[in-house]
Amino acid sequence: MTETWNKRTKLVHGGTRRSQYNEVSEAIFMTQGFVYDSAAQAEARFIESGPDEFIYARYGNPTVAMFEERIALLEGAEDAFAAASGMAAVNGALTSLLKAGDHVVSAKALFGSCLYILENILARYGVEVTFVDGTDLEQWRAAVRPETKVVFFESMSNPTLEVIDIEGVAQIAHAVGATVVVDNVFSTPVFSNAIAQGADVVVYSATKHIDGQGRALGGVVLGSKDYIRGTLEPYMKHTGGSLSPFHAWMFLKGLETIDLRVNAQADSALKIAEALDGHPALARTIYPGLSTHAQNDLVQRQLGGKGGTVLSLDLKGGKAAAFAFLDALTIPVISNNLGDAKSIATHPATTTHQRLSVDQRKELGITDGLVRFSVGLEDTGDLIRDLKNALARIG
Ligand SMILES: *Cc1c(COP(=O)(O)O)cnc(C)c1O
Repeated sequence: MTETWNKRTKLVHGGTRRSQYNEVSEAIFMTQGFVYDSAAQAEARFIESGPDEFIYARYGNPTVAMFEERIALLEGAEDAFAAASGMAAVNGALTSLLKAGDHVVSAKALFGSCLYILENILARYGVEVTFVDGTDLEQWRAAVRPETKVVFFESMSNPTLEVIDIEGVAQIAHAVGATVVVDNVFSTPVFSNAIAQGADVVVYSATKHIDGQGRALGGVVLGSKDYIRGTLEPYMKHTGGSLSPFHAWMFLKGLETIDLRVNAQADSALKIAEALDGHPALARTIYPGLSTHAQNDLVQRQLGGKGGTVLSLDLKGGKAAAFAFLDALTIPVISNNLGDAKSIATHPATTTHQRLSVDQRKELGITDGLVRFSVGLEDTGDLIRDLKNALARIG
């Protein structure tokens, strides 16, 4: 029945399991373990446990299971496994699939910690990684080989907001039998159905739009039942990256409103981008939803025309101008999360991407003047006024 529901209904009711008390709001099962009626029942459950039978919270928990089912319904995935953070999810998704001697092709525009896993950790275990410009399908085609096991990319890159063609890359990867793993955080599960577009495995940091109010760390990996239960779950449950039931409960509540929130944030982001585009203090206003964005065709096809909830502003005056601009903002906070109800401004070159070399930053278009702006739920007019005032203050 739930499969016939439309998105908003799935987000409110999907995955609900009620206890004997028939509570309205999902219960928080704040327990590490579960009591067995008998020794024989314990034995049977360790051999095989049914969907409502739990053993230990690292393996599964009713509140976590509700979250997994609800997000799987939203994504249109067969199954999901929740993780302690977005990075536990990315690491689990990749490491559970790979062994020494395998080859990975990855887009080079990545979240700093994703880059660390691909560049530093996997290499230590004998996995070779080739980096490509994710927006150039010719580079993907030239990089894949018969021993390519996984291709990995962020479907919308941080912080330069390049959009990668999921369907195009998936066709190239599948031709050599590789598994397509997509970090879909910036696209959000509301705007992009990566699995329908060819991804085999989709990863979210729930810390971002799924929580949406900046409270808790979490993540989730989605894919086929075979992959989630056969490959990922054994890796996650034995290595310990499982999600807290309390955080799962927050994310269940977050999913109830995610469609309303990210649509409001994306609508606001477009108005802000349009209001600031061409401002004399800006070298560039980057927002995938702008009709002038180089990949707007792909945005129409892959994201239903929505440009996401983040925009990036490249200030002409470099670091000094970026810092003066950040310090002059009165409504947005200076921080480094995104997808929050509060607007958040970040200077990637000195924070999230500080670890990169000057050359790497240059190659990725992360200039010293670049400011990433995660649009919150404040009044759009107030935000535009505040951003314009701050731009005027830097001259
Ligand atoms: C935040 C983020 C992550 C990591 O998520 P955490 O919850 O902070 O561990 C991974 N990928 C992208 C694109 C992100 O924005």
